[in-house]
Amino acid sequence: MLEQLEQLYTDSLNALQEADGTAVLDTWYKDTLGRKGSIYLMTRQVGQLNKEERPAFGQRINVVKNELEAAYQARLSELKAKELESQIASSAIDVTLPGRPLPQGRLHVITQTLRDIYRIFGDMGFQIYRSPDVETDAFNFELLNFPPHHPAREMQDSFYTENPDVILRTHTSAGQIRAMRDYHPEPVRVILPGMCYRNEQITTRSSIQFTQVEGLAVGHNISMADLKGTLTEFARRLFGSNRQTRFRASYFPFTEPSAEMDVTCFLCDGKGCPVCKQTGWLEILGSGMVHPTVLRNGGYDPEIYTGFAFGLGPERIAMLKYGIDDIRQFWANDLRFLQQF
Ligand SMILES: [Zn+2]
Repeated sequence: MLEQLEQLYTDSLNALQEADGTAVLDTWYKDTLGRKGSIYLMTRQVGQLNKEERPAFGQRINVVKNELEAAYQARLSELKAKELESQIASSAIDVTLPGRPLPQGRLHVITQTLRDIYRIFGDMGFQIYRSPDVETDAFNFELLNFPPHHPAREMQDSFYTENPDVILRTHTSAGQIRAMRDYHPEPVRVILPGMCYRNEQITTRSSIQFTQVEGLAVGHNISMADLKGTLTEFARRLFGSNRQTRFRASYFPFTEPSAEMDVTCFLCDGKGCPVCKQTGWLEILGSGMVHPTVLRNGGYDPEIYTGFAFGLGPERIAMLKYGIDDIRQFWANDLRFLQQF
């Protein structure tokens, strides 16, 4: 009986040393020291012994039980430490690895073009004036000398709201009246940048939304010579100091006289190439002297004040400058396109 106990003791100690994980250890505990474990079963056999042998056996079994319990605790903390160690090792951070590069953004090509334009007009004393994208029919058309049935409205179909008088602006010119009413009777020198909207077929050349930069100068003795000088200086700052400009008669309801400005092609230097369609000239903007009716609607007496206005398209300028052949690229959010600028 005692021999059996000693054998059990040795076997159990060996099994304990061989246990290589806390899960195995749990099973060992249940089988050995648990409520139905081998030590307990051994205790129950005491009754089979002689009276004289019982105390010695009882004492020994208690010692064995305590020793196994202590050995178990020691092995348990040993295995736990080992498992923690390997866990730390497997999830360790290698501080010698190079860092992940953060993707760096950039300004949209139209934002860059707008900033070039702001800088040039800013140097000439023009301030940026913001006006709303959602406009009334009055500011977008009527006060700019487009009466309700004027044929020029045909060229600028907009997006309408449920309120018949509220539309998305078709041009930044809508802000002209707002700027004049804000400043009058002081002189005005502003540029009005922003998004415009037209209900148009989307093609490589036209889109339902695009940016425009409007310019407006109102004051005493402002003449066509000021318009030509300002816009020629602008073209030279933007496209190169040896650019020539020419003005062709045109028509806008809110200017009189009106003119389109061309600049000598900066790609072929005026010799003729596919971009300028072999003419040597590129059409850049529309302009003119502010119509007396518009001046009056803005709060200025056209007998005393004169002014000039112009409008240009940053998309068109960017397309010419970078050789972009599809206006839809600007708003397609294609990184392959955007990352080139
Ligand atoms: Zn050319």
